[in-house]
Amino acid sequence: MEFLPDLTFSVWVAAAMGFCIGSFLNVVAWRLPKVLERRWLEEASHHLSNAPLITEFAGLSAAQSTSTATQAERVFSALESQPPFGLAQPASHCPQCKTRLRWRDNIPVLGWLALRGRCAHCGAKIPVRYLAVELGTGVLFGLIAWRFNEQPIALAWCAFASVLLAASLIDWDTTLLPDDLTYPLLWGGLLLAWLGWTIPLDSALLGAMGGYLALWSIYWIFKLATGKEGMGYGDFKLLAALGAWLGPQMLLPIVLGASAIGAVAGLTMKFSGALREGVFVPFGPFLAGGGLVVMLAGAPRVMEWMGWA
Ligand SMILES: [Zn+2]
Repeated sequence: MEFLPDLTFSVWVAAAMGFCIGSFLNVVAWRLPKVLERRWLEEASHHLSNAPLITEFAGLSAAQSTSTATQAERVFSALESQPPFGLAQPASHCPQCKTRLRWRDNIPVLGWLALRGRCAHCGAKIPVRYLAVELGTGVLFGLIAWRFNEQPIALAWCAFASVLLAASLIDWDTTLLPDDLTYPLLWGGLLLAWLGWTIPLDSALLGAMGGYLALWSIYWIFKLATGKEGMGYGDFKLLAALGAWLGPQMLLPIVLGASAIGAVAGLTMKFSGALREGVFVPFGPFLAGGGLVVMLAGAPRVMEWMGWA
C-alpha cells in the first residue's frame, strides 16, 4: 500500500496551506466589513441624491429635499474621489502607524512570532488572534486532509471551512454575516452536489431549503411571542448553506449543538462581564462550528450521537 507516505505528505501540505489561507482570512475578517460599510454608504448617498423620491416618500418640502439631495451628492462624489479600498488594496500596513509591512512580516505564523506580536516600526500590539487564526486554520486543514484520505475532495472541504471561519470572525466582531460569504457557500454546496462530489443533489436541495426555513420559522415564532429578534437573516442563509453541504438530517444536530454551546457561551460572557450592555452573542460562529464538527465527524457518527442509527 503506497498511500501512507502520501497521506502524511498531504496532511502537512494541507496544514502549510492552512497557515497561508488563515493569514488571508485575517485580512478578509478585517477588511470585508469595511468594504461593505463603504458600499452601503455609497448606495445610501446615491439614493438620497434623488430629491423627488425624498419628497414623495418622506413628505419633506421641495426645498428640504433638494438641500438633502445636494448634501448626499457631495458625499457621493467625495467617496468617488477616495483611493480604492478592497481586500487587496491598500497594501498591508500597521493600523496604528500606517507603516507598510515588510514581506517577511507577512509570513504566516513565523511573521507574528518573529515580531513577538508587535509592529516593527511603532511597537503597537498585533492581536494574538491573528496568530490563533493562522494556526487554527492550519490545524483544521490538516484534519480535513486526514479525514478525507488525501483525496482532492478535501480541497473543497478546506474551502468550506475557510468561508465558515471568515464568516464566524466577521459575525463575532460585527454581528453581520455578509451575503458575499453565505451565498457563494450555498451555491458552491449545490454545485458540488450536482457534480456528485458530496451528497446527492436532492439532499443538498432539501438541506438548503430546510436550513433556511427552519431558522426562519424559529425567528418568526420567537419574534411574535416575545417581540424580540433572536437572530438575523444571515443565520438563515448560513444554515441553508450548511444544509447544501451536509444534508437535511444534519440540520437538527447542528442547531441543537449550536444553541447549547451558544447559550453556555452567552451566559458565561454575561456573568463574567465580557458581554457589553445591549450587545448579543452572534449565532453564526456556533452554527459554523456545528457544521465543522459534523464535517469532521461524518454523518454516520452524528446519527449515532443522536440515537438515530
Ligand atoms: Zn506600527
